[in-house]
Amino acid sequence: KSFADLGLIPELLATLDALAYQSPTAIQQSTIPAVIAGSDVLGGAITGSGKTAAFALPIIQLLAKSAKQTRQSNYVSSLILVPTRELAQQVADSFMRYAQNIKPNLKVLAVYGGVSTNSQMQSLRGGADILVATPGRLLDLMSSNAVKLDKVSSLVLDEADRMLSLGFTDELAALLEKLPAKKQTLLFSATFPEEVSLLTQSLLNNPVEVQL
Ligand code: AMP
Repeated sequence: KSFADLGLIPELLATLDALAYQSPTAIQQSTIPAVIAGSDVLGGAITGSGKTAAFALPIIQLLAKSAKQTRQSNYVSSLILVPTRELAQQVADSFMRYAQNIKPNLKVLAVYGGVSTNSQMQSLRGGADILVATPGRLLDLMSSNAVKLDKVSSLVLDEADRMLSLGFTDELAALLEKLPAKKQTLLFSATFPEEVSLLTQSLLNNPVEVQL
């Protein structure tokens, strides 16, 4: 199958062409159509499998197509939770790269701990289409009202097993409580220990399961 067969819009196909991505990886083949169709997704995938594009491309497409392009102060449309600051930066860079031909431009922000909150708070003031965040910093920003999550339409948990093993269980529970019940959720994990299975059961609605 080609990227065009997966139902991606011409702007994304042009970008993939420019990036010299010739064909979708296995996880992209199963994930992209499921996300475009609006399903929740449970993915077993490791780094290097192409999982970032598997969720970023269809999320960009859904946001590009959604009628309201008006960003509101402090609101976020798509929230991507990741375990570490390195991954947050990397995933945000991927979103920006894949969204480069989308007009009007999508605003992508990354927030993570270990740096001052001031500039992050300032960037969030105008809202974001896509926010990539580590759980602890996101909670801090929420408690100072710098970010509002009650209009999130899609949620991704990337490397869920690492997020839980790094001790983010309580932060994650507190965050998830603030999200609207009606949303599309995608969860990716390399391993599925009991903690991840429990999270999956409570969070995902009839997910399409994709495995490598
Ligand atoms: P990831 O598993 O998302 O970290 O992606 C691993 C690497 O593969 C990244 O450098 C991507 O740019 C690249 N990549 C992802 N999908 C494709 C594809 N379909 N064709 C070629 N390279 C890809």
